Amino acid sequence: MQMSWSCPIPGHAGDCDFSLSPRIEGQAEATISSERSGWKASLDVRLLNDEHVFQDEISALVQESKNLHFHRLIPELAEDMGFLREHRIADCRSGSIHLAGVAAEAGLVVRQASGYFVGVPFLVPHIWLDVDVNGQWIAADPFFLQTLAHWGVVEPHVWPPERSPRNVLWRIRNDHKEEQLIRHEAVDVPVKLIARMSYEPRGVDGSH
Ligand SMILES: [Zn+2]
Repeated sequence: MQMSWSCPIPGHAGDCDFSLSPRIEGQAEATISSERSGWKASLDVRLLNDEHVFQDEISALVQESKNLHFHRLIPELAEDMGFLREHRIADCRSGSIHLAGVAAEAGLVVRQASGYFVGVPFLVPHIWLDVDVNGQWIAADPFFLQTLAHWGVVEPHVWPPERSPRNVLWRIRNDHKEEQLIRHEAVDVPVKLIARMSYEPRGVDGSH
């Protein structure tokens, strides 16, 4: 993954002092270097390569997702649950907060997860739910999958809402906040993220 950014406070005294979010230090090795056009870092993030399709454990989430319409929301509305209940409009943040409540009512153990939906070449900040399946956290995102199917971006028979999209998700936080990947002393720095995929060779039996 290639991350690029520029100094958020150009013209300040002294050298730029960038640091990587401690939340990703453990999962990615990064080397920060400067270029004429700004700064960049390469991150080697390993995504899962392990399919999972839920049975009917998440049917309450699949059902409720059908009653929601995805729309990008201004920040003031993204955590406004009254707006969601009244208009049934949600983005991934308000949708995940709402669906976490639905999951709890259905007796599911879930947590929120925030990070990136890893498309090639562009990564999109995203928020979803992890469901505890026999002590293992598995990403579930029926709202987003149904939305993508509705937009005609994915085939619903290939990506049914019960399929876990975990192989294309990069989890950074266990809540619904967006992590700033680079800081300039105390200032958050907007970054541009580009993904390149590299596949590890697999054995004939499917093992690594
Ligand atoms: Zn600077």
